[in-house]
Amino acid sequence: MCADAKELTRSNAELQAFAHTIAHDLQEPLRTISAFTEILIQKAQLDEAGKETADFIVSGVRRMSILLDDLLSSATYGHGRSRGRVKLEFAAGQAMQNLRAILSSSHASVRIQPLPAVEGNECDLIRLFQNLLGNAVKYRGQAPVEIDISAERYGPDWVIRVRDNGIGIAKEQHPRVFDLFTRLHTETIPGSGIGLAACKKIVENMGGVIWVESEVGGGSTFCFTLAGGHPSVAVPRS
Ligand code: ADP
Repeated sequence: MCADAKELTRSNAELQAFAHTIAHDLQEPLRTISAFTEILIQKAQLDEAGKETADFIVSGVRRMSILLDDLLSSATYGHGRSRGRVKLEFAAGQAMQNLRAILSSSHASVRIQPLPAVEGNECDLIRLFQNLLGNAVKYRGQAPVEIDISAERYGPDWVIRVRDNGIGIAKEQHPRVFDLFTRLHTETIPGSGIGLAACKKIVENMGGVIWVESEVGGGSTFCFTLAGGHPSVAVPRS
């Protein structure tokens, strides 16, 4: 590794450790604010305006806590994580398990087609599917949610596709959606703008690329490549 690359790796690791510490240490004072505001709501004789103000504090704290959680987990993706053979069907299934409450409350139907096994970190791959599936539900349209996960051989690599029938993303926004803290639908739907940046980081750390194919009103397909691997089941070559 050349000196510049070594320096970049070192400063990336430092930045990652810094983000981790900040996110972790800020959770504690946040919990204190939240707990004492709840006590204030219950014990103090607040009028309607006072209650409304206290509710604003609690929802602000909740949002901050979600942001920090996301930041904390995004700081632990990738480099230095143990790797092994991961069956993507298992990772996708596990992600569905973790999201079972929102998948069932939105009556989402998820189709997992035959997927290969790849070399990677199991937690990262579960998180990757979880972020994409969660977004497919969050950014749904009027129709019942339908999600399709498929794999296709592409030379020595695989292209994995997670397709939804949601609200879609305008073409000019496609390159931006993977940037940290970028949100396109901020007014109506809660989120942190960290999920897709984390997906990008996970995929790139495995040597792949991620992109989106979408248009407004036409659903979105998030595609990513993963190197080599072995088919855990026979996937038809196209
Ligand atoms: P968050 O969902 O927390 O805002 P993400 O990084 O996961 O952050 O996504 C970034 C933005 O990309 C979202 O705010 C949303 O506008 C858009 N987006 C992500 N996934 C989808 C999807 N499946 N359909 C439509 N828009 C999406």
